[in-house]
Amino acid sequence: MSLIKNRENKAKNLCALCGKLDVLSFEHLPPQCAFNNKPILAQGHNELVEEQNPMFGKYRRSQRGYGKYSLCKSCNNNTGNWYVKDFCQFVEQGMVSLKNNTSQWVCESNLLIKPQNVIKQILLMFTVADASGVIANLSGVREYLLERSSIRFPRGIRIYLYSNVSVSKRMIGHCIAYHPLHGICQWGEINFKPFGYFFTYDSPPPYCELMADVTGFSESTYDHERPVILRTTYLEVENMTIGHYSNVKFEE
Ligand SMILES: [Zn+2]
Repeated sequence: MSLIKNRENKAKNLCALCGKLDVLSFEHLPPQCAFNNKPILAQGHNELVEEQNPMFGKYRRSQRGYGKYSLCKSCNNNTGNWYVKDFCQFVEQGMVSLKNNTSQWVCESNLLIKPQNVIKQILLMFTVADASGVIANLSGVREYLLERSSIRFPRGIRIYLYSNVSVSKRMIGHCIAYHPLHGICQWGEINFKPFGYFFTYDSPPPYCELMADVTGFSESTYDHERPVILRTTYLEVENMTIGHYSNVKFEE
């Protein structure tokens, strides 16, 4: 899927969520209220995956925060109204826990959140980041995200969290990665202080024991607020290799 890069460009393109041909609006990734409102350094799909791309391996500076032209107006408005505020409250609470945390390795957060709304926004972010459109076309993803009260979380997908304060960003919606123990994996990864988000499809994550599986957030009903205790490990993102953390040594 090609992107409209110029704000003034009114050409139509395919919406990353509903698949409709329309004028696309800029989607902040993560949402602006989740501390994504400053110029940042980022590496996205093009830089990471397409080696022939001249931007490969280079940082791209975005003046308005990270994001892309990806959703039609209707999807942008709907998901913005349905999920974004609750996701941002989750991130704000996570940020407070991170600031108050004294352990170097693990952060425990006592949250009062709407888990279903939060995980819907996380899956939406991967769908938006995924320029290939693989995630949007997985069975049940569109229905789950376009029906706000749906709790039919798509089968095969799992979402994991870790604590993260790294300046370097991975914004990878979906990719095929090779893991020495697990073989070929379908992964995605987005990191943005205070959390890193890891997407898997029919694959284990790189470090089961170090990543908090929050797929169970999808078992709450939509809009239901409840206390959640989250224990997340600090993982440092320094290079652009998905699933690699500079403070973790891989042992086969
Ligand atoms: Zn749409």
